[in-house]
This record gives sequence, C-alpha cells and structure tokens, in this order.
Amino acid sequence: MRAAVLGLIALGASAFACPPLSLQAIVPGVWLVPGAQEAPARGNCGRVANSVVLEGAQGLVMVDPGPTYKDGLRVRQLIRAQIGRPVVAVVATHAHPENVLAASVFVKPGVVFFASDITAARMRRYCPRCRRNLRAAIGEDEIRGTRIVLPRQTIQSARATVELAGVTLTVLRFEGGHLPGNIALYDAARGVLLAGGLVNNRQIPQMRDAQLADWAAVLAELADLAPAHVLPGHGPAGDAGLIAAIRGYFEQLERSVGADVQTGNDAASAPQRLAFPDYRDWAEYLPEHGLNVQKRWREAEQELFDR
Ligand SMILES: [Zn+2]
Repeated sequence: MRAAVLGLIALGASAFACPPLSLQAIVPGVWLVPGAQEAPARGNCGRVANSVVLEGAQGLVMVDPGPTYKDGLRVRQLIRAQIGRPVVAVVATHAHPENVLAASVFVKPGVVFFASDITAARMRRYCPRCRRNLRAAIGEDEIRGTRIVLPRQTIQSARATVELAGVTLTVLRFEGGHLPGNIALYDAARGVLLAGGLVNNRQIPQMRDAQLADWAAVLAELADLAPAHVLPGHGPAGDAGLIAAIRGYFEQLERSVGADVQTGNDAASAPQRLAFPDYRDWAEYLPEHGLNVQKRWREAEQELFDR
C-alpha cells in the first residue's frame, strides 16, 4: 500500500508538472508539436515554440526540437507511439533556446544536425548564457540533463535545396529577420512552409534582435512562395494569411512610429501613445508590443539623422 501511494506521488510529480504535449497531424507526413503562446515559465516548462516533424522515405526530420532534454524525451515518446519511425535529421531554424536546447535527445551518430552557419555560430556563442536564462525561467529540475550540441551541417548561401530523410526542402537563409541567420524551410511537394521564428499566428513578433526593414523584406519573400500551409514558430498552423497578418502589424508599426518620431516626443513614452487595439488580443502583446514600439522608434530616429 505504502509503495503504491509513493508510486502515485512519483507519477503525479512527473505526469502533471508540465502541460501535456500533442503531435498534431497537419497534412500527410507533417506534424506540429505546439508550444504555449507565452514566455518561458515553470508552468509551461519552456515549451513555448512549435516543433515540426516531417516524414520522408528514410525516416523523420525534427525541426526545432524544443527547449530541454526532458521535453525532448517526452516528444520522442510521442513520436514513437504515434509515428513509430526514427528521427534521422534535426534542423534548427534559429538559435533561440526554446527551439534548440532539446537537440541532444535526437542528435546521435549518423543523424544530420542542420542549421545556417550564423545559427551555428550564435549557438556556440550564446547557448551557454541562454541555457542559464532558461533555467532561471523554468527551474533547475526541468532543465536538468540539457546539454548543448552544435549543428554539424551548415548552409551559407541564401537559398539551397537539401534532401533530409528523403524530403526535398528549399532552405531560405536570411541574415536579418527575427534572429540573424534564421532559416525557413519550404516543402514544395506538400505546399508547406516551415516559417520558424519569422511568422507567428496571432502572437506579437519579437523584434529584440531584428530590424523592421529586414524582417519586412523576408516576409515579402515568404509570401512570394504562396504556400498552401504555413507552420508558424508560435501559434496554430494556418495558411499564407499568417504571413499577411504579420506584415500588416509591421506596416502599422512603421507608419505609427514614423509619425510619432516627427512629433518630437521620446521613445520611452511612445508605448503609451502607440497602443494597437487591433492587436491587443494577440499573445505576448504585453510586453512585446511596447518593446517593438521602442525598438522601431530608435530605428526611425536613426533613419531621420541619417537622411
Ligand atoms: Zn525565436
């Protein structure tokens, strides 16, 4: 009896600590593991970005494996139960911890680990610090076992066609955008765009390391692909309307901040003046929209000086 009770307690601790994960079928051979649309915290165990699984003739491609070793183990369990094929390639779209730190679960001898050259360099430079930041947000227990592994195959050109696990993918590499060196993947045969951090679904895009003009140019290029399905970095799967929605947000940001800079006010108080009611129900509106206003304000001011 005592052992049974202890067993239940142990099960409770591991089974209920993190929100349940799911593997959502999008189109045949494509699955999404959704993340919570919020900042990393104990309550979400760091699972705040989407992972994507693609099936090819040779096995599975795991794109953006997730935030921690423990999360990776849970995702691997789901994949084994629901798909039952091995992961033979791992891709990091960009070097944010919630996207890449689970890689060690899937990267084994013989498994490809693919990213841009810039992502590989950023992981080498920033992952030790970003692991510490993530640990502060989600707690030591949840991040235990998380080891940094670096991409072994990198891409330096703006566009390339690669074959991973038998899936033919167009890789679009961007120096700017959400994070320097971020990539998007286009599976033309299935009409699926994996947008990484470059597109969110009803979530304010994070511009901390971005320039608005660069990101807007990237979105124009993604829209030109006219994908039937868009898998965003955050939020549910959708279609090309997701790209248009983020472009709409950036256009309003550019217009509003551009007008505000001309008034002689300052950047610090700009977020109060430039609330966007149409986007208030997007995830992370607080604090990201205010931060974006300030970021764009400083860019616009600089552009004025440079004229
Ligand atoms: Zn990101």
